Amino acid sequence: MNIVLFGPPGSGKGTQAKMLAEKYRIPHISTGDILRDNLKRKTKLGLEAKSYMDKGELVPDDVLIGITKDRLSQSDCASGFLLDGYPRTLPQADALSKILNAMGKKLDVVLNIDVPDDELIKRLAGRRMCVCGASYQIVFNPPKQERICDLCGNTLYHRDDDKEEAIMNRLDVYKHQTQPLINYYTKEGMMLLTVNGAAGISEVFDEICRLLDNLKIGDS
Ligand code: AMP
Repeated sequence: MNIVLFGPPGSGKGTQAKMLAEKYRIPHISTGDILRDNLKRKTKLGLEAKSYMDKGELVPDDVLIGITKDRLSQSDCASGFLLDGYPRTLPQADALSKILNAMGKKLDVVLNIDVPDDELIKRLAGRRMCVCGASYQIVFNPPKQERICDLCGNTLYHRDDDKEEAIMNRLDVYKHQTQPLINYYTKEGMMLLTVNGAAGISEVFDEICRLLDNLKIGDS
């Protein structure tokens, strides 16, 4: 199953993506995670991306197109993938079509998690991350012990781009550059499924699984 997952920052996209990847046994490709990993390792790519990411701006298209092309060509994507955080612009969506065409593949479904702005702001301001990739929300999904990751015991941190000014910028960027892609895929005749992301994590997950299972898509 080849899936693109859309949702504004704070919609729970990353959390759902991890759970879906596990259930459907497909790799979870998060371009944000790939960039953060490069940042942590201080690679040339990470250093180039840092200034954009800290401000909540998009990293240039050519960089993201290259990353995604490389990742999709890896063998674990042979029987499907879940793209989280890509595409975010029209040129990225066009590039994705070309990359998949060249591989003899196509997208099966675009999932869209919808959450109202005021809820997103609340969630992002209280989001805390762990270096292991786990993500918490201090009110709705807190760790068992304050500031400590349940999974690995590391101290949680507050992403620079989850601070107020960057949050507003990211929501603005999402509205103007990424949301129009929903129309783009609708016009292309793509299967588009929208879920209400304001519900709890497991309710949203169950709803997405129900919709995906109804599609009865085999490996592709
Ligand atoms: P995310 O973890 O998906 O919220 O991504 C964190 C940040 O990484 C974004 O705010 C962007 O600065 C950058 N980023 C991730 N994916 C992309 C993309 N497809 N295009 C441009 N920038 C991206």
